[in-house]
Amino acid sequence: MDAEALSAVLLSIEDKRSWDARAELIRTSELEQLAIDLGDELLAMRARLCKINMRMRCGDLAAAAEDIWHVNQWAVEHDAHQLLARTHLIWTSIHLHLGDAEQGLEHAVLAVELLDDESTDHMHVWHRTKLADALYFADDMDGARIRYAQAEEVALRLGSPALLCLLNNYAYVESTGGDQKRANEIAERLLRLADEWHIPMEPAFLDTIGSIQIINGDFAAAEETMRRCLELHAKGKWDDANDMAQYLVTLAQVQRGLGKYDLAQANLEEAHRQCLERDLGESLVRLHLEQAELYAARGDFEAAFAAHKVFFEAHHQQQSLQKEARARTRQAMFETVEARQEAERFREQARRDPLTGLHNRRYVDERLPDLIRTDPALTVALVDLDHFKQINDQLSHDVGDQVLVRVAQVLAREVAAACPEGFVARMGGEEFLVVLPGTAVPRATAQLDDIRRTLRNQHWSPITRHLPVTVSIGVAGLIDAEERAQAPLLSTADGHLYAAKHGGRDRVVSAADLRGFAGHASAA
Ligand code: GH3
Ligand code: MG
Ligand code: MG
Repeated sequence: MDAEALSAVLLSIEDKRSWDARAELIRTSELEQLAIDLGDELLAMRARLCKINMRMRCGDLAAAAEDIWHVNQWAVEHDAHQLLARTHLIWTSIHLHLGDAEQGLEHAVLAVELLDDESTDHMHVWHRTKLADALYFADDMDGARIRYAQAEEVALRLGSPALLCLLNNYAYVESTGGDQKRANEIAERLLRLADEWHIPMEPAFLDTIGSIQIINGDFAAAEETMRRCLELHAKGKWDDANDMAQYLVTLAQVQRGLGKYDLAQANLEEAHRQCLERDLGESLVRLHLEQAELYAARGDFEAAFAAHKVFFEAHHQQQSLQKEARARTRQAMFETVEARQEAERFREQARRDPLTGLHNRRYVDERLPDLIRTDPALTVALVDLDHFKQINDQLSHDVGDQVLVRVAQVLAREVAAACPEGFVARMGGEEFLVVLPGTAVPRATAQLDDIRRTLRNQHWSPITRHLPVTVSIGVAGLIDAEERAQAPLLSTADGHLYAAKHGGRDRVVSAADLRGFAGHASAA
């Protein structure tokens, strides 16, 4: 498979709503490896995000939450807009699964804000739907309705099949929220559009419709709906095997309504078996409630009361599990942030000189080329201590170090005052580089001469006793260099520094001085 084909396969997974999560988890891992083998980082990250989505759908929220940070960071660093939007969408789902509506809403807003012309139709519809879902979970039903309506409008305009998923969520939310009239209207739209657009219904949609029909008291219709739902599910190309338990409970609910108690009991038992086998805590809670209702319908109130107690216990256990998962997920996210900050600190440290705390040559190599390219008025200067060896020899290496630290402090302070965008770096030994963006050579030369004087006028005697501390400075602007590049620029500055040393030290030399103009080649 080449990159283009792989991208198309990934898109088909990204722009889909129903998956067999366990199977897809394996497939997306393989696709990620394929992308890595192709050396295509973006494709690898897209595959990884699909994998995270599947992992979340398999119930491993903490692992999904931890891994999504890496994809997010990569997307930010590489300005991968669509990937970033999809990352926030999946983040929304992770938080909603964890019962954290506030966080979910925050990510849902970003997932919509990041939409643009490059986003797929599916994204335009689905990201808005997810924002509506998040608003509903955050108890803002009015806000949710506005967003569902917007998503519906967009979906109709684009003719996007994601419209059905949208209406499914919308109907479910209205029904759960208790507005049966609206839920009915939306469910009708869902059925009508599926018919008109020849889009096959999905088991999850039918489950929503069946549940709405139950509340309407239309059990005959609900039974038919749930029969279709389970039939579709059995064909197995739609959704997660885990959803079966949910459908069986809905079916049992219908059968209770129809007085088919034995059938209802059998289906609940089958659902119970599946819940235990697959560790489906949430379905189990709903199941216990339905079991209590079924006992009550049969007039066995003692059993109903006992089942109700089991329901409450399961409910509380589920809530504390969710709470625990939230804590674990937060911890995972926190640790990832910490690891990233640690890496940044390390990165920053690698660009600093340990003795003086100034930037080092590596930092210069990273910053200077860009400045040279973009700033025609850039001036640099090499600053070298005069007869520094004497200080080391006559006093001590330690005193030499103290002098270097002091010189670095003064340089940093004076450069910051003269040119806030400028910086100083220690290039090695007793040599420093001053970088002055937006400062033409004549002005820079005058500023550097002030700095030179400030340095020699420091109160040095407590450190160096009788020995003076002075510097020689070689200045170079881009016009002085043979070409606009770092090496020739620094080499020109070095030539001028050499001239300053030979001219007697404690002075600043620029090209103008060498050409013999009256200038700043000013001995103190
Ligand atoms: P010039 O005026 O020609 O620059 O003479 P100089 O003595 O300053 O130059 P030279 O290059 O001969 O000697 C530089 C000395 O700086 C030699 C080296 O031991 C010392 N040096 C380099 N790095 C450090 C450091 O980190 N600490 C200390 N104390 N000395 C250092
Ligand atoms: Mg020196
Ligand atoms: Mg030197």
